[in-house]
Amino acid sequence: MLNAEDQLDGLYRGVIMDHYRSPRNRGSLEEEGTVAEGKNPLCGDSVRFEMIVRDDVVEKIVFDGYGCAISISSASMLTELLQGKTVKEAKRLIASSANFLKGDRDGVDEDELGDVAALEGVAKFPVRIKCALLPFVAVRDALGES
Ligand code: ZN
Repeated sequence: MLNAEDQLDGLYRGVIMDHYRSPRNRGSLEEEGTVAEGKNPLCGDSVRFEMIVRDDVVEKIVFDGYGCAISISSASMLTELLQGKTVKEAKRLIASSANFLKGDRDGVDEDELGDVAALEGVAKFPVRIKCALLPFVAVRDALGES
């Protein structure tokens, strides 16, 4: 099997590898926040998010972890996507992104997904969809509880 990077089409490969090599919002928070963790045993991906949700707004979200280029870049893109959004909006964007990543593009506005749209190629590789969805599923579940 080809590795994740080799499976990506050229068009968006640069955006994905940039997030992988220079992840945005990587680290941990000084104050205690809501924690979201996700693991993908198939690929060995492991991501952990910490976020501050106050007055129904995702004030701050950071992540740390290790894994393939898809999972790490997806986590990085997700933190950029949700920063400063209301919880309701964050959940909507996560649902929209999840559909997009699974190849269901009906009613999805690519423009509002930001760099997440660069992951469009993963829909062709079911094994990679899990990697891309991992961060989204983890954060969605954590927001549901808050
Ligand atoms: Zn992976």
